[in-house]
Amino acid sequence: MKENPERIIPERLLAEIHGATNIVLLTHSHPDGDALGSLFAFADILETLGKKVLCFLEEPVSHHYDFLPDIQRANTSLQTFRQFVIDAGADILMVGLDCGDDDRLGKSKAEFLKIEPFLVIDHHRSHRTFGTISWVDPCRSSTGEMIYELAQALNVPISYNCAYNLYVAICTDTGSFRYECTTPRTMHIAADLLDKGVRPEEVGSHLYDKYSVERLKLMEMVLATINLCAQNQIAFMHVSGKMLKESGATIQDVEGFVDLPRSLHSVKVAVLLKETSNGVVAVSMRAKGQCDVAAVAKGFDGGGHRNAAGFRCQGKTIQQVQQELQDALSRALL
Ligand code: AMP
Ligand code: MN
Ligand code: MN
Repeated sequence: MKENPERIIPERLLAEIHGATNIVLLTHSHPDGDALGSLFAFADILETLGKKVLCFLEEPVSHHYDFLPDIQRANTSLQTFRQFVIDAGADILMVGLDCGDDDRLGKSKAEFLKIEPFLVIDHHRSHRTFGTISWVDPCRSSTGEMIYELAQALNVPISYNCAYNLYVAICTDTGSFRYECTTPRTMHIAADLLDKGVRPEEVGSHLYDKYSVERLKLMEMVLATINLCAQNQIAFMHVSGKMLKESGATIQDVEGFVDLPRSLHSVKVAVLLKETSNGVVAVSMRAKGQCDVAAVAKGFDGGGHRNAAGFRCQGKTIQQVQQELQDALSRALL
């Protein structure tokens, strides 16, 4: 692979980390495996360096990720965050991980961004610059991979817990080392994490073999909504609040559903539309090959990666969003 200048960690970013004593780590709302794995792994690395770290999350960690080591680091109290900032005084550093734009920092975004310096470490192709110093590398499989490189640059040995969290981050964002973002470097890093004692079958069983009967019932209902169009190149599915109620599953249980229609031979883009409790339709897209769903998501004020992207829509029905998206995707597939 050709050397990409952005693969090099900015010196200023390293200097800010070295110089700070109190560090707040943030990630995107509705955090996935990469967001959480990177967060807890980086906290471990920073504590090894003697820093005082606060991992702030807007909401408690989804039960889907309750097996992550160091999950007790997650703090959802804004009051605790504010006190941490007051106690830190001028010696504070904010870090946003795996966050493609500042809106994804969640409800307290304005309060977070007021504090400087604000470092940003991310790998989204659709990244919209924010913060004071950014390290954004869309050629990276995951933010977890970048945190591994940071540990190397900071000369911090990786603990077992840190390795475990980084492995989860990389494994989930690469679709278990299947997506095109999986590079030789990704595999070398994963191999090193196994050397630290991580067992892939254990992580795999937590990620993929722990589902509930309620989730299976929900899957049956969601699969019944499948709608193929554009010569079977686009597959739409949706999940409604009513289906959640009837199945007894939660919205977090839909994780992975969008991969089901993606596995069809003819399908180039799979879409899952989710009706959430506050009148928002959340959309997940997964593509194969050349179709850039991040570009399509941008047209709806969302973002993501070329083959995995999403957006949220307020005040529209699932059917309306589906129709608009079908038009946009059909154009993108031309
Ligand atoms: P998901 O389908 O929720 O797993 O998201 C797939 C990818 O799309 C993730 O990497 C996200 O960064 C991105 N994404 C999802 N939802 C949004 C959104 N509302 N705004 C920007 N990016 C999003
Ligand atoms: Mn993420
Ligand atoms: Mn990521």
